[in-house]
Amino acid sequence: MSHRHANIDIREISKFDALASRWWDPTGEFRTLHEINPLRLAYIENHAGLKNKRILDIGCGGGLLAEAMANSGAVVTGIDMAEAPLKVAELHLKESGLKVIYQNTTAENLAEESPAHFDAVTCMEMLEHVPEPAAVVQACAVLVKPGGHVFFSTLNRNAKSFILAILGAEYILRLIPRGTHEYAKFIRPSELDQWARHANLELRGSAGMHFNPLTRHYWLDSNLDVNYYMHFTRPY
Ligand code: SAH
Repeated sequence: MSHRHANIDIREISKFDALASRWWDPTGEFRTLHEINPLRLAYIENHAGLKNKRILDIGCGGGLLAEAMANSGAVVTGIDMAEAPLKVAELHLKESGLKVIYQNTTAENLAEESPAHFDAVTCMEMLEHVPEPAAVVQACAVLVKPGGHVFFSTLNRNAKSFILAILGAEYILRLIPRGTHEYAKFIRPSELDQWARHANLELRGSAGMHFNPLTRHYWLDSNLDVNYYMHFTRPY
């Protein structure tokens, strides 16, 4: 598949390109990603392990999660369709001394080149930025080895998520830049599960991610109303 017809939204890619230099500022536009990073790292490590695992991070951006996984002993490949964040990710390796392979490609393209290649695939805060998320889910199912793990995080679509994730996070608390998210692209857990089942992935678990703006404390529980994770495995 050529990139011209790829499953990408150019406006989305430009947004992330424009902010790339800010990626590793823990108090900047990506502050929230910095703050949730330990939480998702632990979720992935608890369910799939990290040490010596070959992991693909789809939509890796400036490499926050990719580096954290590499730092825990995983052999990480990060892919993204925005070039500027990938350059920032490459540069940051010089600071951290970690090793991550970064590639400017789509999940669908890599699935053609490297099927059944990864012990785990992570695709965090990315599905709600692509035109056809189901095609990315399908590619994840091809990229992971039989018995391997696939993790998604995204935003649910309902009145509460509109109020908290858009009005609250973008307009009132200004946790993330205005225009980061488009409500219509939010994804219900039932939809994600259906796409995954269609790709022959099995649901293993899910968790809701929550935030207290006063304490800036983040935690996971079983309420998937707004931000949530889903964990799948590919059957043998
Ligand atoms: N996963 C990272 C970054 C999330 S921001 C994290 O959670 O820390 C969303 C990222 O998805 C951006 O870097 C954006 O460039 C990327 N992206 C959007 N559409 C994409 C596509 N079709 N293929 C690959 N990456 C994409």
